[in-house]
Amino acid sequence: MSSNQKLYEGKAKILYSTEDPEILLTYFKDDATAFNAQKRGKIVGKGQMNCKISSLIFKLLEANGIPTHFIDCPEVDKMRVRRVKILPIEVIIRNIAAGSLCRQTGLTEGTVLKFPLVEYCYKNDSLQDPLLTRDRLLIMELATPEQLEQIRTFALKINDILTDFFNQCQITLVDFKIEFGLDGENNLILADEISPDSCRLWDKSQTDPNLRVMDKDRFRRDLGNVESAYQQVLERILAQTS
Ligand code: UDP
Repeated sequence: MSSNQKLYEGKAKILYSTEDPEILLTYFKDDATAFNAQKRGKIVGKGQMNCKISSLIFKLLEANGIPTHFIDCPEVDKMRVRRVKILPIEVIIRNIAAGSLCRQTGLTEGTVLKFPLVEYCYKNDSLQDPLLTRDRLLIMELATPEQLEQIRTFALKINDILTDFFNQCQITLVDFKIEFGLDGENNLILADEISPDSCRLWDKSQTDPNLRVMDKDRFRRDLGNVESAYQQVLERILAQTS
């Protein structure tokens, strides 16, 4: 395959080939979408910030035994990653009730969950990423029972590592979404990104439900100061990792 060919363009990232068939280049865009792309906009500097935040988090997870697709960042908004086949499952881990969990269950936003909740959604825009049961997921053959078990184990371990880390940053990890891929040997590997686009992050120093938001909910809910919230997340992560 020739290098620098656009392989795929998503809502927030573009994937390019490289001279090495096992390595891809991800370009992080400033584009932001919400509500299944019904709301669109730009968050200035988001591409660079999310690329940096994701790479720091992937490095932290690798250091704690989680295999990720991360290789390095040759440019501020570009990440080199190992080529994997992405499983069409959005894995969501929740510590505190927010978003669709509140809409679907009536739980009040901010309720601390008795244990971390691991949920699976079908990554399918035309079906609007529906919530899956374990049996639906297996019947649809989106993963094998063994892969699903490993996904759950990884998801809970990632949640432990990131909850501790964000606590040190004075940030509460409310919930987040991750995606996994399979490499050439069918090993399960953490892929995609982990950033304020894919996490709910609340500033521990704020109690006001709008002021505490440091993630894409600022864009979704038109709360303003989106760029500075992302920047603040990056600065706190840098302060803890350098
Ligand atoms: N999330 C994501 N991409 C999606 C759906 C959700 O990154 O397509 C993240 C979202 O930012 C939040 C978590 O997953 O951190 C849980 O989202 P939820 O199901 O509450 O969806 P929402 O309320 O945003 O529709």
